[in-house]
Amino acid sequence: MKIQVLGTAAATSMPLAFCNCDICVRARKIGGKNIRKRSAIVINDELLIDLGPDVINACNMYGIDAGRIRYLLQTHSHSDHFDAGHFVTRWSEYATKNLKHLDIVCSRGTAGDMDRWIKQNESIDLFEKKWQADLNCTLHIVSHGDVIRLGDYEIVAVDSGHDARIEALVYIVSYKGKSVFYGTDMLEIGEEAWKILDGHRFDVVFLDQTYGKGFNAGGHPDAGMVSEYVKTMKRKGITDEKTLVYATHISHEGNATHEEMEEEAGANGYRIAYDGMELLV
Ligand SMILES: [Zn+2]
Ligand SMILES: [Zn+2]
Ligand SMILES: [Zn+2]
Repeated sequence: MKIQVLGTAAATSMPLAFCNCDICVRARKIGGKNIRKRSAIVINDELLIDLGPDVINACNMYGIDAGRIRYLLQTHSHSDHFDAGHFVTRWSEYATKNLKHLDIVCSRGTAGDMDRWIKQNESIDLFEKKWQADLNCTLHIVSHGDVIRLGDYEIVAVDSGHDARIEALVYIVSYKGKSVFYGTDMLEIGEEAWKILDGHRFDVVFLDQTYGKGFNAGGHPDAGMVSEYVKTMKRKGITDEKTLVYATHISHEGNATHEEMEEEAGANGYRIAYDGMELLV
């Protein structure tokens, strides 16, 4: 399984557009791994998790042919994870040629929001068969605990608690004996989520670390929570010494430069993801 990390920032990007806090100023100065696009990954060049606003530029930067993407898992519909402007270019009116079929996996609430975002751009109805035929896509509505098989992939949906209105989800993706947990965005790993994770052993884990330790403005975990999750996963055998565990979805509040974050994370048994990172497991 090949995992290409396309972006590792929270909704705000990193550094923030207009911020001159110490972290943002240093991030701009150092550049490199400190410059983060909105979070997304692509597996085996064909399974994208979250069609965010930076995804297509990221694909072009990292040599991923976005025209070959066949599967799209949407965690949720917040604007840093779904860009309707990219999506509507599938419509034949945009003269898109040789469109690959796209299986879309998301919750009902997320699909409803995506449809609304899309309608702000074009008169497309995501739920109508006629439009799905034109866009060459199939919509798979899933809920917490659902397992869906697409090609060689087995996908398990897990409630993230991040937005109950739309049932925001995170996903476990397994492929030919390898397994990744992509855990952004999460409010926390709740009791129901642990029930599903308990039955797995992961090769790669991504966890949401929007905030630094002791600096939690709500809606997402902070570094202290991530450290606890990492310990709990190891104790439960969900991860082992071979598992690659990375924090992603990073904002400036309480976080630091990539190097400083790596040092702190390293002491707690995980690492910090960065844009352009490629994993082969
Ligand atoms: Zn987000
Ligand atoms: Zn800042
Ligand atoms: Zn979100």
